[in-house]
Amino acid sequence: MKIIVHRGAEEPGGNCIELVSGKSRILLDYGAPPGATREETILNIPGLYEKSADPVLGIIVSHTHQAHYGGILAKPLLPGVKVFMSEIMEDIVRITAKMQRKAGKFSADIRYFRKNHKFILGRFVITPFLTDHTAAESFAFLVESEGKRVIYTGDFRGHGNKAAAFRQFLAARMGPVDALITEGSQAEIEKGPAEAEIMEQVENNLQRRKGALYVMCQGQDIGLLTSLAILAKNTRRFLVVDGYAALVLERVKTLAAKQGAELKIPGLDTKYLHIIRNAATQRIYQLSEYAETFARMRPKMYGWDWLRDNLDRLIIPVRANSQFWIEEQIDDFKGAAFLYSDWERYDEEEGLTDTLKWFLARGLEKVPAPATGHAYFSAIRKLVENKKPRYIIPVNTEHRDKFTRTFGKRAKVLKNGEEFSPD
Ligand SMILES: [Zn+2]
Repeated sequence: MKIIVHRGAEEPGGNCIELVSGKSRILLDYGAPPGATREETILNIPGLYEKSADPVLGIIVSHTHQAHYGGILAKPLLPGVKVFMSEIMEDIVRITAKMQRKAGKFSADIRYFRKNHKFILGRFVITPFLTDHTAAESFAFLVESEGKRVIYTGDFRGHGNKAAAFRQFLAARMGPVDALITEGSQAEIEKGPAEAEIMEQVENNLQRRKGALYVMCQGQDIGLLTSLAILAKNTRRFLVVDGYAALVLERVKTLAAKQGAELKIPGLDTKYLHIIRNAATQRIYQLSEYAETFARMRPKMYGWDWLRDNLDRLIIPVRANSQFWIEEQIDDFKGAAFLYSDWERYDEEEGLTDTLKWFLARGLEKVPAPATGHAYFSAIRKLVENKKPRYIIPVNTEHRDKFTRTFGKRAKVLKNGEEFSPD
């Protein structure tokens, strides 16, 4: 088996990893680097846009952050190149695409995978495992072929809301692993607090606060929205989201229920969840395919006067572009606080860094939480100790030397486009 990291070997973001076995070729992720133009995003890999002797059988997407799937949106793929993701992931991709007025059509030949269910692609056998990360659903993969085994982690951590997924990943028996392709975007952080500990501190801060709490939170970060809902309940506040977040929560819940899983996430039946009528909510109203869900959102919608009258009782998750409606509707920031992470890069969702800048320039009391959606190095160590790969290939990181220092010759630092066979 051959491994070629087309992008992400030398930089964070925009991962694209090719695996080759005989005439079978697959890609793991095809991301858009943060801030890249359409042209910069497109990779001219043989078989993606033009026929090649050995076709690309499929692109397997780990999660719905732009840095992992944005490349698929940049240019229509050659017919026959299938895109593999979970049903929930497809829904997130479609909703997100529809939120933009000038949204390009998302047309790809999508096939679903399910966690822990093996599927076969040419000479490859692929098993998806759920991971703990900040997208709606995130996966790692075990890829087997020619008696070789490669693990690709996608993005993961062991300290978040879905820490159980990391424990299950460690517990899964995979046999001897030849190469572990792992993310290392926060590899310089050896160890840090768990999300639950951080939320406890935030709760203490909120108990004595007389003002709104604004929280940096990606629209599809179901884990953080769930933590904020618990925070709202414990501090007798309201969690204020817009129609987009409400729709994502509702869709994820419905699709999970279809597969027999009852998720404990906030939704339209959560008493203290309120919805505001901003542009994003308005956009959902225009999408006739969500008319039924929108009708159920209506009783939870509150006007701007209610919002302004109740600021001291609100928790408001903010994401890319939220600053625009806040600037228009709220001028009283007395007692307000802004919760964000000074460890996080905030470049996985387009426009999020602008939101961060806007809030930091606002003079709100900062509540920096040492949180991250990515693995502390201690989690990477744990994974290496557990799976005992012969080689460790860091991707999506600026800290490759940390891997070389720690794992010596087993760390295989590649260049973009370089071929490597773990023989
Ligand atoms: Zn991610």
